[in-house]
Amino acid sequence: MKGKNALITGAARGLGKEMALVLAKEGCNIIINDIEAMKEEALKTVEEIKKAGVNSEFIAADVSDFESCKKMAEEIKGKFEKVDILVNNAGITKDRTLKKMVPDEWYPVINVNLNSLFNVTRNVLEIIPDGGRVINISSVAGISGNFGQTNYAATKAGVIGFTKSLAKEVGKRKITVNAVAPGFIKSAMTDKIPVEMLANVLELIPLKEIGQPEDVANAVKFLASDDAKYISGMVVRVDGGITF
Ligand code: NAD
Repeated sequence: MKGKNALITGAARGLGKEMALVLAKEGCNIIINDIEAMKEEALKTVEEIKKAGVNSEFIAADVSDFESCKKMAEEIKGKFEKVDILVNNAGITKDRTLKKMVPDEWYPVINVNLNSLFNVTRNVLEIIPDGGRVINISSVAGISGNFGQTNYAATKAGVIGFTKSLAKEVGKRKITVNAVAPGFIKSAMTDKIPVEMLANVLELIPLKEIGQPEDVANAVKFLASDDAKYISGMVVRVDGGITF
């Protein structure tokens, strides 16, 4: 993957950062996207990535905003010319049972997790060359649903529909489009789960442990590689077997 350019959204920290570090080790130049408020953390991530000997830059943009993504795509075109690998990773949760959920918990989650796929991919597609890769981060919640996550699960199921449809549209250009659906992965998101609830979750996971960020990043690396050139429209579950 030496010399390829990868854009990862929401990559200042968490799973996106891990994906960035893993792809950098493969020789990819990395464009870190995140919101302006994450600038400090994003710049630290960029410095860590550069240690792998690749080019890296932080480009701030709000993926829930079409114009912001348009500006980001123009900036990338000027500085990097093309995006060989696009990872739509940015995501948020605002959990509440539907009975109590308010519009301020519904709409932002739809905007950041789902409308972002249109905003980013629509603007970046023209600089993805033939043979490129689009990898969208879904979740097992989008496959099985999850208590208190009607908003989040709806977006993550939407990510899968988007992935399969775009795979059909861009296949003729040898661009593959796949989704990765993580289960419970050690992260800021899962650190919020109360200890007793986590014990119950571990019982349900055949591998009896929570996943690590590199487990997700390694699946992304495979889908981004030439080894996965004949795989498109798929959802790769990285969940210790919790949903099969
Ligand atoms: P995280 O909160 O650590 O990282 C998400 C990043 O997205 C943050 O840096 C945040 O600033 C950024 N972001 C938020 N809104 C944004 C916006 N409008 N524009 C640009 N960037 C924005 O979360 P994470 O655990 O690393 O999750 C990454 C992805 O993986 C998400 O899509 C999440 O839904 C998915 N996922 C995570 C888990 C898990 O267990 N952690 C499980 C399944 C799916």
